[in-house]
Formats: sequence, structure tokens, C-alpha cells
Amino acid sequence: MARALNQPLGGDEMPRFGGLASMMRLPVATTPEGLDAAFVGVPLDIGTSHRGGARFGPRAIRAESALIRPYNMATGAAPFDALQVADLGDVPINTYSLAKSLPIISAFYERVLAAGCRPLTLGGDHTIALPILRAVAARHGPVALVHVDAHADVNDEMLGERIAHGTPFRRAVEEGLLRCDRVWQIGLRGSGYAADDFDWPRRQGFTVVQAHEVWYRSLAPLMDELRAKVGDAPCYLSFDIDGIDPAFAGGTGTPEVGGLSVPQALEIVRGCRGLNLVGADLVEVAPPYDPSGNTALLGANLLYEMLCVLPGVPRR
Ligand code: MN
Ligand code: MN
Repeated sequence: MARALNQPLGGDEMPRFGGLASMMRLPVATTPEGLDAAFVGVPLDIGTSHRGGARFGPRAIRAESALIRPYNMATGAAPFDALQVADLGDVPINTYSLAKSLPIISAFYERVLAAGCRPLTLGGDHTIALPILRAVAARHGPVALVHVDAHADVNDEMLGERIAHGTPFRRAVEEGLLRCDRVWQIGLRGSGYAADDFDWPRRQGFTVVQAHEVWYRSLAPLMDELRAKVGDAPCYLSFDIDGIDPAFAGGTGTPEVGGLSVPQALEIVRGCRGLNLVGADLVEVAPPYDPSGNTALLGANLLYEMLCVLPGVPRR
């Protein structure tokens, strides 16, 4: 079977600073039919509690992704040798209404998933994980979750609202979208409203790994343990860029000091190889606080690494 696979536009065909800014300079698709994986932007930031700006995340991540080449020189992954991948553009959210945006997002992802396509999402604030998980669970049933973040995002309410970027995983538990004994939260830290803020997720059965517990350490052994426990369950990866230290990823809405290093972040994503990843996101890149573009560059590379660990990606 010879099917023509989309390839990122090469730097010898068009200089990397030229051309349309699709994710990794891939073709833009208008339908998920025939795609194995797709990048999707969700330019929503009306769920943020502090600094705004994540609505510009997808565009900035796409711009910085222009430098990424097809082969992963560390892992040998060759995603474009086997998968049909494209950029599906952005979900047309309603920027005046979270209530109206959530069903728009869920419907978009239901269509992507129904086509057998694995979505890799460019956020957007973390609110978007809830409507995506609703679509994922509707398709696959409750899923395992790898959640990287400085925050647990399990608040019951924020300013009296039940939908915000600090509540998605509370709602996901209540709605039965998660297999709670196979949920891992990694990188949690900072100050809280109560000393037991991280105990609520533990009581649900989550494994909580605070950042200080893994300072200076390789996370490869942790990921070995995670894979053994998650097994072949459908699994979703939700990566809040603020899980990484603001020294490396300061362009975000709610930075917390003492976070994960970039190599640790790479170990987490690369350690997801072998999981049945049904989708993943990279959220909370806020370009107005990212004058160098480094946070968006890191986000783009983490999304590429997510693509590299999807089922079916060969290693050369
Ligand atoms: Mn978050
Ligand atoms: Mn966070």
C-alpha cells in the first residue's frame, strides 16, 4: 500500500521564516477524514484567573514550530514515515462565552475522534481540557490521564464559577470521564488556599507527584512505573506549560517557581511511548508574557514530542 503521506515543508523548499505558519509547516486540512493525527488550535483564554493571553497561544506555537524538522534525533522517532498528519486549524470558539464555547469544542473533537484521528491540541487555557475529555470519554469511555502542571486544577469553583481553567479535572471526575486510579499529576507546587489542597485528588485515587519530590531527578523511572500501572488503557496527556519552571517557560498566566526542568518535561513526554495515547494537549502558553518566544518554542517542541510517541510511530 502506497499512500502519500503529508510532510512538513522542508527548509530547502522554502526558508523556515517563510510560508504560511501552520504547525510544523504541515498542510492545513479542513476535515479529519484520512488523518491518523492532527494538530488543533483552541484559542480560548476566557477561563484564566490571572494573566490573560493564551488565546494567542496557537498562533505563537505555530510560528515557533517552523524550526522543527521531521526526525527526532534523540529517540529516532519518524512520525511522518508512518502517520498521516495535518494541521486542522483552530476551533471557532465564542470568545464571549465559556458556556457556549465548551459544546463547540466538544463537537469539534467528536468529529476528529470519529474519524480515527488522534488530536494534539495547541491551547488555549486549561479550561479546554474538559470539553476535550468529554469528547474523548464519549468515544473511548473513561480514560487514564497524565497531567503535568504546577496546579492540580481541581477547584470546585473559582469566583463562584464551576467552569474555569482551575476546575477541569474536578468536573472530569464528577462526570466520570477519568479512570481515577490511573491518573497521574506531576509537577504540582506553589502556595495553596488550604494545606490539604492536593489531598482531594489523592482521595480520588490520583497519584500526585509534587515538583519538589522530583527536583534534580530523572523522571524516566517514574514514567516506567506510570506505564506499568496505566497499561493499555486509553490515555490522555494534558500538559500545562506552567508545570515547567518559569525560568524556561515564563510566558504563561500563573507561573510558580521551582518547577520541572526541560529535560524532565522531555522525559515525561518520551516516557509516554507505549501508552495508548488517544490525544494530548499543550496549554497555557501566553505570548504577551513571552517576548523571546521561548515558551512557545518549548510548547511547539513538546507537541512534536507528543506526536513522536503516538501509537504506530516507528523508530529508526
Ligand atoms: Mn492547568
Ligand atoms: Mn497550571
